[in-house]
Amino acid sequence: MSADAPQVPDTLTGRCMCGAVSYTITERPMVDGLCHCDRCRPQSGSAFSTIIFIHRSAMTVAGETAVFDDIGTSGLRVLRRYCPRCGSPLTTEPDLTPDLMMVKAGTLDSNEWFRPVWELFVGRRRPWVSPVLGAKQIEANPEL
Ligand SMILES: [Zn+2]
Ligand SMILES: [Zn+2]
Repeated sequence: MSADAPQVPDTLTGRCMCGAVSYTITERPMVDGLCHCDRCRPQSGSAFSTIIFIHRSAMTVAGETAVFDDIGTSGLRVLRRYCPRCGSPLTTEPDLTPDLMMVKAGTLDSNEWFRPVWELFVGRRRPWVSPVLGAKQIEANPEL
């Protein structure tokens, strides 16, 4: 990581596109990453997800959310939480990691500091997307 990278704040805040849902995270992300899996593609409406890994206990959500009950590549349940009013994806909560979850980095109020250090499911990366320089290339789910 370069010395001039923006400092990551101790407390992160974010919200959905319409503002009906907001959240606070009282820790720095464990990892910043990209996910190229086949579920993140339709869910994000893009080629990959930009995500941060956090402890579930560090996040407080205000406002009504909805969850889509998905099945992950692990075969276990994955809750995908979103705003029912504007549709912004907010979190990914896999049963595989009961203490940890992912937050969609695009919903953070400020994420200039975001630097992917992991790329997940790189075998499914679209051919026109280049690997992020220096990011660990992982074929499936990471070891957490
Ligand atoms: Zn919303
Ligand atoms: Zn994914």
